Order: sequence, then structure tokens, then C-alpha cells
Amino acid sequence: MIEIKGLTKAFGDLPVLQGINLNIPQGTIYGLVGRSGAGKSTLLRCINGLETYDEGSLRVDGVEVKSLSGKDIREFRKNIGMIFQQFSLLTRLSVYENIALPLRCWKYSSSYIDHKVKELLELIDIPDKINAMPKELSGGQKQRVAIARALTMNPKLLLCDEATSALDPKTAKSITTLLNQINHDLGITIVVVTHQMSVLRSTCEEIAILESGKLAVNGPVEQMFLQQPEALKNLIGEKDL
Ligand code: ADP
Ligand code: MG
Repeated sequence: MIEIKGLTKAFGDLPVLQGINLNIPQGTIYGLVGRSGAGKSTLLRCINGLETYDEGSLRVDGVEVKSLSGKDIREFRKNIGMIFQQFSLLTRLSVYENIALPLRCWKYSSSYIDHKVKELLELIDIPDKINAMPKELSGGQKQRVAIARALTMNPKLLLCDEATSALDPKTAKSITTLLNQINHDLGITIVVVTHQMSVLRSTCEEIAILESGKLAVNGPVEQMFLQQPEALKNLIGEKDL
């Protein structure tokens, strides 16, 4: 689904991604870990075309992201959902309208929107919150709504940037269970950026560890936790894990 070769990106003089090589197979849940500032969010933003890269190749579903512009990039982004730590719901819109937003932007019919929003509300399992405002929701419920909104265009890929980091462990677990369900039932490839080891172990099939913009190590999650390579040990020692 994602093929990254020799990917390089700098902000001015600051090298942020330094020769990343990584393949993320279709249908997997792939974990990206690393300290704050390692380049995880930048890599996700490159994957969905929100950020350009300097050198190397980054293909999503066979398409070189850098080659896209204008209308093509808008079409490309339709296939990629993204969720964030802070949920990013629009506070003045109801749950229904938050989920409907991308569909309204793409000018779908009201009847299709109604059908799709209700289907997604079932999936995220909060059907009774349809008319609630974001401020009336718990953190976990807000993230569920954000997930529903990210799925409105039937994406092939879902990118999650610290999506469980603002939640208590039990709620975080319920969100990772939902991500597992989405991956399993809808076949969507999911990339999970996190610093929470419990999330990696319970959710991801493979993980990659970024250190200062470089890929330190990657492999199947069980193998990584068995072998405990240096890069993983360094992370496990961090207080926020
Ligand atoms: P992570 O998500 O792993 O914490 P980021 O990808 O957000 O890391 O950031 C990697 C590095 O790039 C950091 O040093 C950060 O300060 C820098 N950075 C991120 N975005 C920008 C930007 N838009 N302009 C300048 N520097 C940036
Ligand atoms: Mg980040």
C-alpha cells in the first residue's frame, strides 16, 4: 500500500526525514513509533500529500505522491482518512454534521449522506449521539466521531497520529479495538503513530521505530518485543511510555 524509498525531507537546515525506506503492506495495521521530534507526524503528512518531500520516492497504492497536484491531490486525499490526538471536530456542528462534512464538500445527495452517516454511527457504536454537540461527548466518543468522519469517503488507508494519546487507558483500548474492527471488517490499511507501547502490542502487526528522522529498525511486533533491539529498549525507558 505504501512504498517509501530513500525519503528525505528538511525544514530549512533541519533534516527531519533522512533516507527512510519502508514498505507498508496492504491490509495491515502498521505502527510508527519514536520520540517526540523523530519525524513521525511529518512522515504521515508526506504520505497524505499535506507535506512535500525533497528526495526519494513515496508511493501510495502505486502513485508517486509528489507527482500529484491540484485536482489529482484532492482525489488522492479522498482515499486517505486521518485522525489526530485532539480529535479536530468542529465545535459548532452536531455529530451528524461533523460526520457529514466531507460528503457535503463533495456534494453528495442528502439521501446518500443520511444513509452513510447512519451507517457510520452504527459502526462507531454511538447511534444515540446523532444530534449531540461535540462538547457533550467524552474524549473517546469524540475520537469515534472523528474516525467516522475519516471513513466517509471509504478510504483505503487510515492514518492515526497519536489518536489515543489524550485518552485514559481503558478508553484508548476501546479505540484500538475499533481500529482493529475497521481493519478486519473493511480491509482498510491503518498506520498508527503512537508512543504508547500497549497500543502497539495490542493493535499492530508490524512496527517501525524512527530515531531523529532515520528508520532505526522495523519488523513484526512480536519479534520486536522478543528481541528488544536497542531502539526499542531506548523507547521503553522513556517515562511517557
Ligand atoms: P514527531 O511527530 O515525531 O514528534 P514531527 O514530525 O512533528 O515529529 O517533527 C519532526 C521535526 O520537524 C521536529 O524537530 C519539528 O520541530 C520539526 N518540524 C515539524 N514541522 C515543522 C514545520 N512545519 N516547520 C519547521 N519545522 C518543523
Ligand atoms: Mg507528532
